[in-house]
Amino acid sequence: MDQYAVFGHPIAHSQSPFIHQAFAGQTAQELEYRAILAPTDGFAEAVRQFRQQGGLGANVTLPFKEQAAALCDQLTERARLAGAVNTLHWLADGSLLGDNTDGAGMVADLHQHGVTLTNRRILILGAGGAVRGVLEPVLACQPRQLVIANRTASKAEALARDFAGLGEVVGCGFDQIEGAFDLIINGTSASLSGDLPPLPPHCLIAGGITYDMAYGVNATPFQCWGERHGGRLNLAGLGMLVNQAAESFYRWRGVRPDTGPVHQALLARLEEKQ
Ligand code: NDP
Repeated sequence: MDQYAVFGHPIAHSQSPFIHQAFAGQTAQELEYRAILAPTDGFAEAVRQFRQQGGLGANVTLPFKEQAAALCDQLTERARLAGAVNTLHWLADGSLLGDNTDGAGMVADLHQHGVTLTNRRILILGAGGAVRGVLEPVLACQPRQLVIANRTASKAEALARDFAGLGEVVGCGFDQIEGAFDLIINGTSASLSGDLPPLPPHCLIAGGITYDMAYGVNATPFQCWGERHGGRLNLAGLGMLVNQAAESFYRWRGVRPDTGPVHQALLARLEEKQ
């Protein structure tokens, strides 16, 4: 059977095996997908062994996404700009291609909810790996302006410089956020510790959209902030997770799964586990 996997450390929490097995069942693809705990100092060796055992492709999660980029023979443009790879694909000639499907997954999730990014004024909070990973796909949608705000302002400014060629991008600290935005994306890890980035009160337009890349069974603190501040739609990142997986699956198998039922099944599974 064709072999796929996800590498990470830790990895027990990963929903990727569930998602990819669900995609495989839905599209009648015969494949096996498993989670592999790679030692923190042994990622390259774990990938080499997996390939030797017949591996055809893999996902990569924390803390190995940058190391994965360094392992590849070639990178897609979005992975090169992200400096990180979440999808490995061995091509027919044996070379290793690296892609980053996180941003495309988030944009697809927004589109599925009827949210377009073109000509919108967008605020992204955070300047870590997740934000760097989504900037190219977001800018490819041609927003009117993209403001990146981060606790450490210099990191947001550096990201804005790196991506300046792709559109109007501004980097700043939270205290320098000005005006109101159509869409605010939280790419900080604040929600994971129950925190909220310090946002000025009127930075979301009436009926605007909020999107938290973090997710859980219950609404995140940022989703609750969106609800309190008149957000029309206040989404969390579970749809991003399912859609980035669908992008990987499509790259490997050439078949696009229907993400809606898998998203629902995953939500039910997480609720059951709670
Ligand atoms: P990093 O550790 O690389 O970056 C963390 C970022 O959050 C930094 O910009 C940091 O600011 C900021 N931050 C941390 N705590 C706070 C706080 N209390 N208040 C304000 N800012 C804070 O993390 P990642 O970029 O890898 O992940 C970010 C989020 O994205 C996580 O919640 C993760 O779960 C989510 N994610 C979701 C995915 C999905 O598929 N749904 C995929 C990938 C990530 P500073 O630079 O000042 O330290």
